[in-house]
Amino acid sequence: MFPFNIRPLTIGTFLAATMLLVLAMTPSAPDAWGFFGHRKINRMAVFTLPPEMLVFYKKNVDWLTDHAVDADNRRYSTKHEAPRHFLDLDRYGKRPFPNLPRNWSDALMQYYQYFYVNDHGDTLRLITSPIAEQTDSVAFNQRLFKKEKTTVSRKDFRGFFQHFVLPQYYEDGLMRIPCDSLAALLGNVPLHCREAFVVDTFSQHGILPYNLEQMLRRLTDAFVERDAKRILRHSADIGHYIADAHVPLHTTANYNGQLTGQDGLHAFWESRLPELFAEQEYDFWVGQSGFIDNPKAYFWDIVMQSNSLVDSVLAIERSLRNEFPPDRQLCNEYRNYVFVKIQCEDFARAYHERMGDMVESRMQAAIVAVGSAWYTAWVLAGQPDLSNLGDEAVTLPDSTDIELQKAVKGGQQLGRPH
Ligand SMILES: [Zn+2]
Repeated sequence: MFPFNIRPLTIGTFLAATMLLVLAMTPSAPDAWGFFGHRKINRMAVFTLPPEMLVFYKKNVDWLTDHAVDADNRRYSTKHEAPRHFLDLDRYGKRPFPNLPRNWSDALMQYYQYFYVNDHGDTLRLITSPIAEQTDSVAFNQRLFKKEKTTVSRKDFRGFFQHFVLPQYYEDGLMRIPCDSLAALLGNVPLHCREAFVVDTFSQHGILPYNLEQMLRRLTDAFVERDAKRILRHSADIGHYIADAHVPLHTTANYNGQLTGQDGLHAFWESRLPELFAEQEYDFWVGQSGFIDNPKAYFWDIVMQSNSLVDSVLAIERSLRNEFPPDRQLCNEYRNYVFVKIQCEDFARAYHERMGDMVESRMQAAIVAVGSAWYTAWVLAGQPDLSNLGDEAVTLPDSTDIELQKAVKGGQQLGRPH
């Protein structure tokens, strides 16, 4: 049973509440994998490729390395970028999170919130029942209509959603829907609807695995068209997102340890540890990439594996905080002409050792997965000949690069940093 409730509220109150929520959720800014990690993963992924691809990727390995953090930089130019880097799985119950549809449009249909304003000026929310893979109908909060039950077929709901709601995904503000179409969807119940709208309360909590599927399609298209610049750009970006998916803290709302008094944990795990130990102690020769039969299942597996490590990432650091005196946890280090407080080497080494090979093995798995995604897109595109694709001009900055640099220089990150 899903909860039925009616929540009259005005649009004004609703917007004010949403603004407060957004402000309250804006945390301090840790980095993703750090420059070092992302660059290394994209670079090493090139060497997992078969010779037919290596001929093009090796020529452009420096470009792929340098652009490994473009996706992070894009957070300065659009608010839609930040959620592509994470997914707060723990918002959706317990592993394996059966209430979270693995299909993107199903997830949006389920977690979007549907409202209408009636003749009296009350804003009412329509509550929908959960949409699982095997669901073929969706129940809408029927108390509003004084009827026993208002059930809509999943097919009709999907048609409605794709026609009226989804095209507004990238638009700012409320997504408006026609009252008569909403009433028709619900079997012409008397809604007395003056206006109706939908609010996206889903995307802000992360869309990482859904975005990976979309990126794979884009990269495949770029191969089909043999568009060298787009192949490079989408390769660098999917490399970044896949690397993020391998980081446990990219799969939890407690992404910086901020909910458990462990602030700074994000950069500690994914930047400080690799910077200190990767070059000397990690092995980055990880073998060959392979074809991904079922991209959706593959990307979700990565995210679920990462999530299964969250408890250890938190618990081990917590126990070390209790063991180490505070003045041996954070040290001053001179960087870029200023002193910064950063985890002391002894403290970092203790964390590194107690986690075993966790960071190293997540980096290794990321390298194979990035190479495999590139390889899969190429195979799906019919294995186009890359031997004489592109020339040096391909790697020169174009208008996209220039716009991005401008946004980073003048800007502020939009949405949640990580
Ligand atoms: Zn990222």
